[in-house]
Amino acid sequence: MADQLDERGQLLSDLTEAPGLPGYEGEIRDIFKRAVDGIGTLEQDGIGSISCRKDGDANGPSIMLAGHMDEVGWIVRHITDDGYIKFSPLGGWWNQVMLAQRVTVHTRKGHYTGVIGSKPPHLLTGDQRSKPVEIKDMYIDMGTTDSAHVTEEMGVHIGDPIVPQSSFEPLADGKVYLGKAFDNRAAVGAVIETLKALDGVDHPNVVHGVGTVMEEVGLRGARTSSWIAEPDVAFSLDVGIAGDVPGIEKHEANQRLGDGPALIIYDHSIIPHLKLRDMVIDVAREEDIPLQQDFVMGGTDGGAIHQHRSGVPTVTICVPARHIHSHTSMIHRDDYDNIIALLVALIRRLDTETVAGLEL
Ligand SMILES: [Zn+2]
Repeated sequence: MADQLDERGQLLSDLTEAPGLPGYEGEIRDIFKRAVDGIGTLEQDGIGSISCRKDGDANGPSIMLAGHMDEVGWIVRHITDDGYIKFSPLGGWWNQVMLAQRVTVHTRKGHYTGVIGSKPPHLLTGDQRSKPVEIKDMYIDMGTTDSAHVTEEMGVHIGDPIVPQSSFEPLADGKVYLGKAFDNRAAVGAVIETLKALDGVDHPNVVHGVGTVMEEVGLRGARTSSWIAEPDVAFSLDVGIAGDVPGIEKHEANQRLGDGPALIIYDHSIIPHLKLRDMVIDVAREEDIPLQQDFVMGGTDGGAIHQHRSGVPTVTICVPARHIHSHTSMIHRDDYDNIIALLVALIRRLDTETVAGLEL
């Protein structure tokens, strides 16, 4: 299927298939750098966040687009005497989506496939079947009971990142994409594509397109990279939780795949800047870009960015996604294209006067 992807689809495929745990975002950063090569000036913070600065008007306001590069995964904490790997989660995992899944352990010597072990149903008591296995009781089976093979030949070491293994695949009519880590490569891709779309286009500001690090463990790169972007206005980009599946009520999550990007009206890390929120709604309407609005019960990079220095007008805009924080998430290509179109339209309007008018 991959050969049928256009350039945007291919970049998303590359971004999601690459590994990038919190603190281990190097491969994503490399893809980011290659993709924006020649568009702007690259700057990096001290912990790995990457910014591409693109000047429309160097005296105009600074507009920050932030998408976190990290994905949820695990790290090696111990190798047992018979070669099994005990691990800890990096980011939020629900134990019920983990058992029997393939993972890749990244060591200094290479990349090795393993599987999160599970007991066959034949051996489970009625009591065991009724409750999920705790993560602390799980292990990764590398296909050998020789611990020296695991530690010497594969070079597995405490702290090595363990990444979900999952390939990118378009489904249904080809516009629904299945793959790991759309949280948050969909946003990293949107940052890159927005920078590309602005190439050769007038915009009355300086755009900092940023790939942040370590969001999943506490918005860390958002905090540090804000010192590079020094934003006057910021858009925190992430995935939203699509509720268009059985078992989720509309009042829990009302986003639907394909109905447009979602403006987040509330989450645990930020109340959106009210005037910027309304501007996003107005611009989407003017440009005929579908826009959903929703609550998200988590936090995003916006939580850190809006508290930078004396405060930054910030909103979070999301690409709706199903099944996040698992091996297989799903987004709709139209939502992805529309979030890019919306960001371009917003950036083209954010001149000095408009930004001054955002004062509350
Ligand atoms: Zn995220």
